[in-house]
This record gives sequence, structure tokens and C-alpha cells, in this order.
Amino acid sequence: MSNGNRTILAVFAHPDDDALSCLGTLAKFTNENYQVHVLTLTAGEKSNTAIGRTRLSEAETVAQLVGYSLMEQELSDGHLRCDLETVSLIEKYIQQIRPQIVITHYPQNSGYGHQDHDNTASAVVNAARRASCVDWILYAEPPVQDWGFLPNFYVDITDHMDLKKQAIRLHASEGSKAYMLPDIAAMRAQWWALQNHPDNFCAGRYFEPFIVVKGVLDRNFFTGIE
Ligand SMILES: [Zn+2]
Repeated sequence: MSNGNRTILAVFAHPDDDALSCLGTLAKFTNENYQVHVLTLTAGEKSNTAIGRTRLSEAETVAQLVGYSLMEQELSDGHLRCDLETVSLIEKYIQQIRPQIVITHYPQNSGYGHQDHDNTASAVVNAARRASCVDWILYAEPPVQDWGFLPNFYVDITDHMDLKKQAIRLHASEGSKAYMLPDIAAMRAQWWALQNHPDNFCAGRYFEPFIVVKGVLDRNFFTGIE
């Protein structure tokens, strides 16, 4: 049962993570008059293509484009931990924002994931599962495929796919990485459409996948039939 506060908090380790994993869904929430907040825990300064605050500045441009509020912490890239300090920091944001829905990384404990993503996910779930305001916690799609990622909730982002591609392009300093190609993001979103709807409905459509960690969301969520 929804508490009706229509507020989202998405927490990711690096400035481009939300664009890759759930930008279409964040845009959809924003269009449906949710208050959407994205917290990036680092400036992504350890990337071999990063120069100064470039990556944060790119993320700020994307936030303006989509219409969500971007909050920045400059913890040490590559050194994020799931410890008391990080959990307390995220708790502080949850108490301030009072989100109904919390989105974070899928923890790729297989070794294929980034250690910052795994530790962010653990700290976020630790903090969010104890917050009474949080009805739902969602893991978003990992940027690199992990066969352990088995989604149980899909969002139709067809109307926002062009915006997602534009947002990925705006993270230009990371543009040399294969997973940052907008066409790869579109192919993945079409693949998830096929997984969600193995019929003609998926033709020409794009979906983002999630794992619901807490709560129950179904495909009627955005129609108000929840
Ligand atoms: Zn990342």
C-alpha cells in the first residue's frame, strides 16, 4: 500500500550510473509529478578519462535536462565502503527527503561488478529497509551484464528512450567506454522489452528492468492501480 508521498531517492556511486541504469524510469517518474532526487556518492574522479569535476558537471547537465534534483557527495571514488559512516550518511538523506521509493545499484557480488556499486547497494539497503517512509527498494540494471540479475519489475520507457540516449551522450568524458554507447543502451532496453513481453507488444518498445528488494510493484504501478 502506498503512503502516497510520491518521492524518489536514487543513490549511486558515480555520476553516470543513473543515466545508464534507470534514466528512463527517473524521467517517467518526473513526468508523473514525483519529486525525484539522485544522490551520487563520488565525483568519479578515478576514471582514467576524468578531469577535475568534469563528471559531476556532466551529471548536473543531465539533471537539468531530465528535471530531477542532483545531490553530490565527494567520497573517495573506488574506496566506498558499507560501514557505519556511509550507512549514517544515507540515513541522513532518507530522513531529510522521506522517499517512498529508493533505487540503487544491483550488487554484483560475482566479481563482475564495481566494488563501489556493491558497497553502495549494501549501505543503501541497510539504511532504507529500516526507514518507515520507504515502501519500495529497487535494484537497477547493472551496467555490465550479470547472469545473476533476474528482474521482477519492468518499466516501459519507450517515451523516454531518446532522452536516455541524450543523457548518456552528455556524459561525454566517459564516451570512449563501450557500455556508454547510446545504441547499446537502446539494444539492452529492447532486450528487456522482449523478456517482459515475449509477444508483439514488445515490438519497437524499450523497458528498464529492476529487482524489487522490498515491497510489491507490478506493471500497473504507473496507471495508479497499485
Ligand atoms: Zn559506477
